[in-house]
Amino acid sequence: RVLVGTKVDETHANWVTAYNMLTGIRVAVSRTNAKLDRPITDADFSVKQKSTFDIAGNELVPSAKYDFKFKDYAPWVFRHLRALFRLDPADYLMSLTGKYILSELGSPGKSGSFFYFSRDYKYIIKTIHHAEHKFLRKILKDYYQHVNNNPNTLLSQFYGLHRVKMPYGKKIHFVVMNNLFPPHRDIHQTFDLKGSTVGRNFCEEDLEKNPRATLKDLNWMRRKRNLELGIQKRKLFLDQLHKDVRLLQRLQIMDYSLLIGIHDLERGNEENLRDKTLRVFNPGGSQPAEEPDPNAVLMRTPSKLESQRKARELRQKIKSEKPVPMGETSNRMPDELGEGQNRPGFIFNQDDGGFRATHENNIPGGEIYYLGVIDCLTHYGIIKKLEHFWKGLSSDRNQISALPPHEYGERFINFISGVTMSQEEALKAAQERDAAL
Ligand code: ATP
Ligand code: CA
Ligand code: CA
Repeated sequence: RVLVGTKVDETHANWVTAYNMLTGIRVAVSRTNAKLDRPITDADFSVKQKSTFDIAGNELVPSAKYDFKFKDYAPWVFRHLRALFRLDPADYLMSLTGKYILSELGSPGKSGSFFYFSRDYKYIIKTIHHAEHKFLRKILKDYYQHVNNNPNTLLSQFYGLHRVKMPYGKKIHFVVMNNLFPPHRDIHQTFDLKGSTVGRNFCEEDLEKNPRATLKDLNWMRRKRNLELGIQKRKLFLDQLHKDVRLLQRLQIMDYSLLIGIHDLERGNEENLRDKTLRVFNPGGSQPAEEPDPNAVLMRTPSKLESQRKARELRQKIKSEKPVPMGETSNRMPDELGEGQNRPGFIFNQDDGGFRATHENNIPGGEIYYLGVIDCLTHYGIIKKLEHFWKGLSSDRNQISALPPHEYGERFINFISGVTMSQEEALKAAQERDAAL
């Protein structure tokens, strides 16, 4: 399908690293999964488990193609986190290590992180900086408790924290997390929103080259977009977002964003038949798209006629749908959408893996939103303070992205609350504001 990066095979520059990451995960996670379950203890949060891989192998570690060292951090905590997020242990291992294939995404972002998809696109491996790694370990207990108390948290779902080190190589830290976007649905538009305007523009001209690029705050505003959620869904969403942001503020985190993927039900999945060079997502931004993995495209491509028929049926269905109270089964996605990725019990994944647009009075809308708060491991440390100082000299203080965590969170919440206003509400609010002036 379109959501592909560059396939990482033996010829790829990062093949050895990717192979070692996956081998390490396979061995470490199987080892933890094989044990009888038990409750978490305080000591579990600081555990590091080290394995040394080589061609020979030994009774504890199977042989591997390359020599490397692997560290698994807080394995027991992550086992429990995976259970809280209701991952099936066997599926998790299969997705990540069934065959050694990953896709590497575009070029690394500003931060220098690399992103890899698991071959089924369910998981993302993100390499992180040492400071982010140390920070995640420090806040792991708070994060764990938060997930325990908030099963519907919108924050990135962390499934594992690991490190590989090759002989004479540098240490590579990485996390495994959820891909917010579904493997089975085209995402027609992607936005990464922070509530800041400085540097928050994706050049509209570049959209032609890269139609699925991640757009930012200014692009959102230019389109006068909103998230159409209706009263009940909006409340569920904002209540959870508040709780999540409170945690981020308390932990002195900033620079996170709300990632929004929009699937347009009318357009459906047809487009990956026409344009196979599209790339949903390219953290580097303006990099030209590379050749997609042809196998990945084939895997997910229904015949054109079939998808046209499905789209037609779906349009009919959407037109004929009646308003229904939330939570009733009839509020689910129609069966035609097939291959549902509903995650039972998770509010924001209830509609085909996402959260379906809803008009006032619960009339279903024509879009499915895939939403989450990402990039939440930046501690407001000394670097950000410096950045704040320098940028503060030149721009409006409130408009720069490196605000202190409390202000960052408030601005974020304010902006996202505005984003969820219906068009009418936004208009009314603007009129009231103008009248008050
Ligand atoms: P920077 O610090 O410069 O913002 P980064 O390397 O920390 O960059 P992120 O902000 O975490 O990267 O992610 C960059 C982009 O990657 C996002 O805008 C989004 O398009 C994509 N992305 C990140 N995490 C996910 C996820 N969990 N699911 C889907 N897409 C993601
Ligand atoms: Ca970011
Ligand atoms: Ca970052």
